[in-house]
Amino acid sequence: MPGRLDSVEESATLRLADLTGELKKQGRDILSFNLGEPDFSTPANIIEAAAKALRSGKTHYAPSAGIPELREAIADKLKKENGIDVAGNDVLVTPGAKQAIFYACFSILEEGDEAIVFDPGWVSYDACIKMSGGKTVWVKSNEDGSLPAELPEHVSNKTKLIIINSPNNPSGAVLGIKDLRLVADVAGDNGLYVLSDEIYEKIIYEAKHLSMGSIIPERTITVNGFSKAYAMAGWRIGYATAPKPVLQNMLKVQQHTVSSPTTFVQYGALAALTGPQDSVERMRLEFKQRRDVVIKGIRGMGLRCEMPQGAFYAWPKVDGKSEEWAERFLEAGVGLTPGSAFGPHSDDHVRMSYASSMEDIKKGLERMAKLLGGGE
Ligand code: PLP
Repeated sequence: MPGRLDSVEESATLRLADLTGELKKQGRDILSFNLGEPDFSTPANIIEAAAKALRSGKTHYAPSAGIPELREAIADKLKKENGIDVAGNDVLVTPGAKQAIFYACFSILEEGDEAIVFDPGWVSYDACIKMSGGKTVWVKSNEDGSLPAELPEHVSNKTKLIIINSPNNPSGAVLGIKDLRLVADVAGDNGLYVLSDEIYEKIIYEAKHLSMGSIIPERTITVNGFSKAYAMAGWRIGYATAPKPVLQNMLKVQQHTVSSPTTFVQYGALAALTGPQDSVERMRLEFKQRRDVVIKGIRGMGLRCEMPQGAFYAWPKVDGKSEEWAERFLEAGVGLTPGSAFGPHSDDHVRMSYASSMEDIKKGLERMAKLLGGGE
């Protein structure tokens, strides 16, 4: 029976991670640079706050949009750091940013509607759009990660949504004010919504993070979370703010699918936002050091690679099919993700996550250099 899910592929990044795991089980020495998760532990104050919540009986359902204290703290953060003027009632706490992205797509798109995703783009946007009955229109970003001036040519009478992601997974590119203005103008001229995925906001280097919600709040769904900034990927906690009619629909989806985000986890998230932020800066600086080593190493192999301004990925250009390259690197003991996972125009790149120890990174770079030096 044909259905909505037929065209949704199993996550390619996870599939490659599985293959890597398989080879490791067979005793092969593989260094994996596939997954998008900080290798750091969650800061102790956050763990303690969640443990305390558990011990004090925060084991019941929470209000479906999230506990009021956390919604208020998120609204405060959005106001102070992002220039998005919202109250706690405008915030929806979700089990991860990913869930919020799905809710937004599901709330906005009707069968046959189109959503613009920039290529390269994170793997789950396309899946969330398809699961919502929509169609992804891929628009190639410029090689330096900026957005193409031809964007308006990709808008049709079916377009409802544009998704942006800065800093970008997989390229590490950060959008500047010119990019945001371009998207804001196209959204304004055509009555579109913009979903702004800001999950890597805190992992940023020389550039400055700008939020679309501070430019066109009436059209922007801002999504963020705790997985990256606070090394809380396994906690499954994120949030969104959106124009009221969209937020109400997103809440309905949450109410009828997950009821509420896990109660005690929300107390951990509250501690993350309201507690000391020094661990965020420590992790950022560590990522920056690794980035410098990775980019120097990759360029030293003769590969072209833009300097990522944020997130924890390098996005070198390769000469040929990315899946074949990923397999070749895997044979050499290095797990990378093929660019083809991130859009139809990205088959000439591979992604290397540097959320791994410096020791593994250096070893991995040596193996890659050996492979490339070996006449491949
Ligand atoms: N958005 C992007 C661009 C990501 O890379 C990821 C995780 O890899 C997510 C969202 C998901 O974040 P969360 O763990 O909060 O669901």
